Amino acid sequence: MTPDDRSCSLEQLTFDNRFTRELPADPLATNARRQVRLSCYSRVNPTPVVGPQLVAHSREVADLLGIPAEMAASKEFAQVFAGNRVLKGMDPFAMCYGGHQFGNWAGQLGDGRAINLGEVLTPNGQCWTLQLKGAGPTPYSRTADGLAVLRSSVREFVCSEAMHHLGVPTTRALSLCLTGEKVMRDMFYNGNPQAEPGAVVCRVAQSFLRFGNFEILNSRNDLETNRRLVEFTIRNDFPHLGEATSETIARWFHEVCERTATMIIHWMRVGFVHGVMNTDNMSILGLTIDYGPYGWVEDYNPGWTPNTTDASGRRYCFGNQPKIALWNLAQLGNALIPLVGEAQPFQKGIEAYSAAYELGRETMWGQKLGITSFQSTDTPLAEEVFSLLGMAETDMTLFFRALARLDTKTEPTPAKVQALVEEAFYSPGALKGDLLAKWTDWFCRYQERLKADGLADGIRKERMNAVNPKYVLRNYLAQEAIDLAEQGDFGRIQELLDVLRLPYDEQPGRERFAQKRPDWARHRAGCSMLSCSS
Ligand code: AMP
Ligand code: MG
Repeated sequence: MTPDDRSCSLEQLTFDNRFTRELPADPLATNARRQVRLSCYSRVNPTPVVGPQLVAHSREVADLLGIPAEMAASKEFAQVFAGNRVLKGMDPFAMCYGGHQFGNWAGQLGDGRAINLGEVLTPNGQCWTLQLKGAGPTPYSRTADGLAVLRSSVREFVCSEAMHHLGVPTTRALSLCLTGEKVMRDMFYNGNPQAEPGAVVCRVAQSFLRFGNFEILNSRNDLETNRRLVEFTIRNDFPHLGEATSETIARWFHEVCERTATMIIHWMRVGFVHGVMNTDNMSILGLTIDYGPYGWVEDYNPGWTPNTTDASGRRYCFGNQPKIALWNLAQLGNALIPLVGEAQPFQKGIEAYSAAYELGRETMWGQKLGITSFQSTDTPLAEEVFSLLGMAETDMTLFFRALARLDTKTEPTPAKVQALVEEAFYSPGALKGDLLAKWTDWFCRYQERLKADGLADGIRKERMNAVNPKYVLRNYLAQEAIDLAEQGDFGRIQELLDVLRLPYDEQPGRERFAQKRPDWARHRAGCSMLSCSS
């Protein structure tokens, strides 16, 4: 290769693989399923595929990594990000982690279908790990195939980017590639496996460490490796905390608790339900990670879970997310106690989570309602709006956008309330009688409260619209894009990426993407409930 070829090649990326350089590796190099002890990862290469084809890429993530736009269209790009080519400087590996799944310790899980390619060092000194999901088996694949299908890959790719643009901490996605191979999946778990198109997403994050990476080491009493992993994490991802002493580890846990609280508040603000909040799906950086059977609350219902596996227990339903995060943090704390020798600092961290969540929730409620000086005395007004939203099927996203349009110069009458928010109700005519009276009463108190703030309607609307999105990745919108993609039409994926890039803007002409779930989507798989099969 001449130097000129190199300058327009992905080979120009600089890799600085801190994880594999600084942490203990599994001594075995074979790609066979096994329990991996005294190590943080196993080296493993992606499995080559017959027909890499780029479906879509995120130009923002390419920018972040310093990959020029024209390079994304190259054959090389699809080769690398479908797993067919390992670039010079990459050092591919799968991580060892465990996890509590649905409240029970599950032992070793690990990157069963994720392979980290390496850490890209950008010119401004940032380090981003590239991770392929669905690039073939690893020592952690257990009984599964290490692959991913197009439908779940579209969901992960589009949603990670949509979440980023909503301002929610998340792992990112660089690319979505087809492999040209088929993958067998029993989507409904009913004994009818089908051949589906295989796909690979390249995920990007500053760290993919999960609570489960620390839990697995502690469960095996491997204090030495656990300490090294903690020191590594603090040194690389929390450098402001300084050297990893016992006090630093406690402060680090405290910060993980606060970051997790921030993430959960964002989820509750935008109506995101993760669906599988196992401790192996909780990021140490407080990022949303592992987009599986997630969903978006359409009609407001705190008991709603998108995950069919969770339908009976509803452990991971929308309204439970704050307390499940706390439970998960307690498991992480337990895994760190032996490093510090006492439980009390971790108890304090857990308390910090609760305090951060309570405070953050009040701020978020104030922002959603457009009340600038939200105080504890306003809590009943906020709680009541959510209780009313749950009384008849009411679209949460549409409701808050409508609320921002309230004209406070005229008194709230039933007719005015109806005209303002009726479009958010799923059943035509639901907003009448007793329910309409309750809403009107709420609007009277709300308007009184707004008057006390004294903010002009226009300014309030602008502020509310900056936190209450107009466009979210409604479950049916993702499914429509998947249906088209499975027929070879990737245009809708691109269109969704474009719309969801500016989720708070009005975007005239694109209103179809802001409409409430149509009736056909009410019970259709992928639009209402999803299985973990992916
Ligand atoms: P999840 O519920 O998707 O977070 O996955 C839980 C565990 O199962 C993780 O260790 C995954 O790597 C693993 N896993 C999920 N799907 C597959 C698959 N198709 N092949 C191998 N491992 C998988
Ligand atoms: Mg997972």
